[in-house]
Amino acid sequence: MLYPLNMEFFISDLEREPVEFDQELASGAIDFGDLAEQEGVLASSGRAEVIHEHRGPKDVVPDMRIRGRFSGRFRVPCARCVEPVEVPLAADFDLIFRPLGADAGAPERSITAPETEIGYYQNDSLLLEDVLREQVLLSLPARTLCKPDCKGLCPRCGVNRNSQTCTCEEGPADPRWDALAGLRGRIKS
Ligand SMILES: [Zn+2]
Ligand SMILES: [Zn+2]
Repeated sequence: MLYPLNMEFFISDLEREPVEFDQELASGAIDFGDLAEQEGVLASSGRAEVIHEHRGPKDVVPDMRIRGRFSGRFRVPCARCVEPVEVPLAADFDLIFRPLGADAGAPERSITAPETEIGYYQNDSLLLEDVLREQVLLSLPARTLCKPDCKGLCPRCGVNRNSQTCTCEEGPADPRWDALAGLRGRIKS
């Protein structure tokens, strides 16, 4: 089943019982900007629960713990020629979200669980959409190429060198560079 709208976890619900989720998000439900384009559904399942962080006798912080996994197909621009490249992505996550402001003015309370990433939720709720957007972006490869020997774009005229040839290398450089070279010559003399 496709959910056009995203799922929201409320701390008041989680205080009663953990929430299991198993969602398929349609393409477009999450905006990944220019970094990636979702193809088909993004599947995600897992469990949300509250963890009470006891900081003192009267200081209990309700953290949300979201554990789960996602998988989907994405189109990512080639790092050299910008043509879209299909990339399958899947990852597990185990995240802790504190109420926004819970760590304000307490720099000595640094993150103590290195195996768990810490985020923050606002207004007593957290959108699955926001969790998944961040997890997908974090799982993107640092550098995607359409093929190992992608020739990229010509830095002078911008043609895709994989499919077109241009005469830039043999021909004169951009006249603006000539002007700069001439200027440099005049400064030296
Ligand atoms: Zn390329
Ligand atoms: Zn060129």
